[in-house]
Amino acid sequence: MPLGEVDFILLSKLSAKLISYFGADVDTIQGTKLPEEALNPTRGQYYSTVILNKLEVLKNSSRELTLGITEEDIYIPTLNYLFGEADPIAKVGIVSLFRLKQENYSFLDTDELFFSRVLKESVHELGHLIGLTHCNNPRCAMYFCNSLAEVDKKTDRFCDNCMRRLYKTVPTSML
Ligand SMILES: [Zn+2]
Ligand SMILES: [Zn+2]
Repeated sequence: MPLGEVDFILLSKLSAKLISYFGADVDTIQGTKLPEEALNPTRGQYYSTVILNKLEVLKNSSRELTLGITEEDIYIPTLNYLFGEADPIAKVGIVSLFRLKQENYSFLDTDELFFSRVLKESVHELGHLIGLTHCNNPRCAMYFCNSLAEVDKKTDRFCDNCMRRLYKTVPTSML
């Protein structure tokens, strides 16, 4: 679900990747504006958890997983910024494109690199929604990244350990 203005081509590309990745139906649904009450004017950022609460209210069914995508910078009070956040109970997550755009931009493969980051962080948040927690393997999509360098180092795949945990907890149709 786009939150605010989000590049439509990016969203379509992301949906297509996630369909093949999770083997599940993925719909790009009608977006909404970011909730004004989430904006912290002093920080110029949106409080991510407030957005997740709004997404939970907007969900059609408790069985759906909803991933919000925003161009805005998001935060929680204990961190300067976030690439994304997820609420596994409510089954809602968010990915912010804002920090994924900065640094390490090579003029040759800017779009490719940016998209690979968006995909990794989307897979990460969806991983939380299907029951995974953070993983110590720096190549695994469930690795928690503090920097873009770390995002660029990891892959968009769950490692063998995470896959084993998934097979134990999730119906195979989700894999
Ligand atoms: Zn995480
Ligand atoms: Zn892992």
